[in-house]
Amino acid sequence: MVQVKINGCVLELVQGDITEQDTEAIVNAANEELIPGGGVDGAIHRKGGPEILKELREKYSRCPTGEAVITGGGNLKAKYVIHTVGPIYKDGKSGEPELLKKAYENSLKLALEYNINSISFPSLSTGAYGYPIEEAAKIALSTVIEFLKKNQAPELVRFVLWGEKNYKAFEKVLKNLLSS
Ligand code: ADP
Repeated sequence: MVQVKINGCVLELVQGDITEQDTEAIVNAANEELIPGGGVDGAIHRKGGPEILKELREKYSRCPTGEAVITGGGNLKAKYVIHTVGPIYKDGKSGEPELLKKAYENSLKLALEYNINSISFPSLSTGAYGYPIEEAAKIALSTVIEFLKKNQAPELVRFVLWGEKNYKAFEKVLKNLLSS
């Protein structure tokens, strides 16, 4: 586990399962149709129960890439699930960096709107959507750091990385960002 302070807030990296987190909100790596898929999305709907999908269907028809929507957490420990859609990686020159940044920013903005003090992110886009982990980690971490410097909230932002390889990639990128 790594913990650093940014502008009075805590930025944390842990290796683990996003569905087990007890932060007020967890973020889902959703798709534009908001239809439960594999990876993080499948795990959240399985563990959270049907209430989450029911609320999605009632409130939203879809969620464009880079945007975010919010529901309750169903049976999860988290009170809220913020569903955001990262870009599908093509070649890195098709707007993917900007869209990935927007997905993190819009999730964080929604957290502020709902007075959410603690939030857990998975590494968006780096599973089925194919974003190279180090490039994605740079965007993920620099976007969160920039947001915390500007807004001094949420109090806790946790990245929950699946497996040692993803965790190590984030750890390395964070070290580089903080020393530069
Ligand atoms: P995307 O479609 O945005 O790529 P995925 O859910 O396929 O989303 O994968 C995003 C990242 O989340 C990948 O790095 C994957 O290894 C990781 N991951 C998969 N399951 C979990 C989980 N239960 N908790 C945290 N991270 C997970």
